[in-house]
Amino acid sequence: MRTWSVPAGRILGIEVRIHLTFALLLVFVSMNEQLAHNAVTPVRGAALVAIFFGAVVLHELGHALVGRQSGIAPKAIVLFPTGGVTVFDETQPDIPSSGGRDLRIALAGPVLSFLIAGLAAFFLRIANPHDRIWADPYVSSANLPHSLVWANLWLGLINLLPAYPLDGGRLLRSWFSRSMDPVTATRRAINLGRGFAFAFMLAGWWNSWLAVIGVCLFFAVQMEDRSAVFRSVLETVRLEDIMLTDFATLSPADTLEDALEKAVHCLQDDFPVVRGGDMVGVVSRQKLLQTLRREGNGYVQAVMNRIFDVAQKSESLSSAFRKLSARNLSIIPVVDNQQLVGIVTLQNLMHSMALLAETRKLRKAALES
Ligand SMILES: [Zn+2]
Repeated sequence: MRTWSVPAGRILGIEVRIHLTFALLLVFVSMNEQLAHNAVTPVRGAALVAIFFGAVVLHELGHALVGRQSGIAPKAIVLFPTGGVTVFDETQPDIPSSGGRDLRIALAGPVLSFLIAGLAAFFLRIANPHDRIWADPYVSSANLPHSLVWANLWLGLINLLPAYPLDGGRLLRSWFSRSMDPVTATRRAINLGRGFAFAFMLAGWWNSWLAVIGVCLFFAVQMEDRSAVFRSVLETVRLEDIMLTDFATLSPADTLEDALEKAVHCLQDDFPVVRGGDMVGVVSRQKLLQTLRREGNGYVQAVMNRIFDVAQKSESLSSAFRKLSARNLSIIPVVDNQQLVGIVTLQNLMHSMALLAETRKLRKAALES
């Protein structure tokens, strides 16, 4: 999924990406400093953005550490200047929300941000007793230690707002989902988050930092919105709606050469192996080719994978995704009353998901206009 972000390594096994709004922040900071007639040096401007970045990383670390204790660790997150957004992972089932756990994970970030702000203020006090912590400008490249305190403080405070996907908004969604299904709860939280984003942008007339928060929040909401559409596609679409019904099968008694000959005539990369109407295995075109090259001609029976999973045609896409990823498979035969009625491949799943998400968005847009 396109995330408008660049990879930035791993923390605690979580893949971290930086969203392009950080570049926007850099532009804003340098413009803002110029307007404020500060002695602008690019290094100080970059250092200020680095302070924001560090604050967000530590904030997310707070979430990740507590999340790990509860056995919930995202595979990847995208960092925005307002906090992190978990990258949608179709192979993971939606974790049902639980009040206490969600509260602990959500609060861990702001609490850590407040702690860091407090510590920074304490050391600033010792190092420079004349610095007035409560004096404006709160964040400015002219006073980086002062900005360190305030960047963390603001990050913690903003995240308490019920604006999804900020931490307060996540709690709100978890609270919504007690009385409605998770898809509707998320949709509601997203709409509210978007409202907050626009309100912040409007408030930008008053203080341009608020506009920056609004823009970052807007991008974060858009990302969540897209994964919510994907999630609803995954949960509501059945395999029978997307499975390939026109497909080739192989027989265990086929020779590898025969099998490859058949494979030439279709676009499939993976084949169900069928004996007298019963599924007995699966094999990929690549495997056929490799074995033929290495060991010469033989029978499909000897190379096919006997460990496979089948799915019922009424199962959801998310269930198929989980089955595929659990066993690292690339094909799932779809059965109805033990009869092979179709196949679903990883490639086919990805394509149809993107297509379905697009048509849903278009339909939604048509309904709203
Ligand atoms: Zn947070």
